[in-house]
Amino acid sequence: QARKRFGQNFLHDPGVIERIVRAINPKPDDAIVEIGPGLGAITEEILAVNPRLQVVELDRDLIPVLRTKFFNYPEFRIHEADALKFDFSQLVEGGNRLRIIGNLPYNISTPLIFHLLGQAGVVKDMHFMLQKEVVQRLAAVPGDNNYGRLGIMAQYFCKVQPLFEVGPGAFRPAPKVDSAIVRLVPHDTLPHPAKDLGTLQAVVRTAFNARRKTLRKALGGMISVEQLHSLGINDGLRPENLSLADYVLIADLLADEKADGRDSHEVSND
Ligand code: SAM
Repeated sequence: QARKRFGQNFLHDPGVIERIVRAINPKPDDAIVEIGPGLGAITEEILAVNPRLQVVELDRDLIPVLRTKFFNYPEFRIHEADALKFDFSQLVEGGNRLRIIGNLPYNISTPLIFHLLGQAGVVKDMHFMLQKEVVQRLAAVPGDNNYGRLGIMAQYFCKVQPLFEVGPGAFRPAPKVDSAIVRLVPHDTLPHPAKDLGTLQAVVRTAFNARRKTLRKALGGMISVEQLHSLGINDGLRPENLSLADYVLIADLLADEKADGRDSHEVSND
């Protein structure tokens, strides 16, 4: 019996499962972690190639089901935990960065992706089944309807590759939405590193809290029109028109300002 509160929609279409596993392309030496294995539809196919697979599952009733089903894989490890709070870095052994996969519970997919972006340094790549609209948001570029905080922060850390769509019929029970598979590959070197990540996050959050307003209004409490102009950014644009590089410019200016403020404060204390 699938549980709604855990966002359970179990995959049962063998063709779709095979296509997902082919996209992941698991190798015996990979350090693979599956989030939300459920009844083990994807798990089973990965284990056949990589018997050291580890999984993180929150529903305690599924743990004995998984143990029984995969009893003949002694290296298979189950972590009964909430993936939203899970420290994935503890699973890294010998510098082998993690390959994270999952048909994610759609009710928590956005906070879960933000949580994983925060751990991108220990991740080699990620393959997720998500609501199609979330994949569109991850891949969105300036001007797109779906462009916003999720896409900007995902693209700050990762290369985002939408792979293919999956209809509701592939799951039991069938979800009410279309799904899609996406690949996220953390950048080896960030293309637009911010001086202070927290400032970048604050700027992007503030901007998209008022996404219909002009930048002048949306960011009015943070940055002046003159400062925007000094960066070559038109204050009449809207948050959805700015690129990641633009947001980093704004955040760096504010971070410099904060650092200068601290310096002068320290000086005045001498
Ligand atoms: N991978 C299975 C499949 O494809 O058939 C199940 C996918 S189902 C959409 C999502 C799974 O994530 C369920 O097994 C659910 O119990 C689990 N889950 C829900 N919330 C979770 C959380 N916070 N941490 C870890 N697993 C969670």
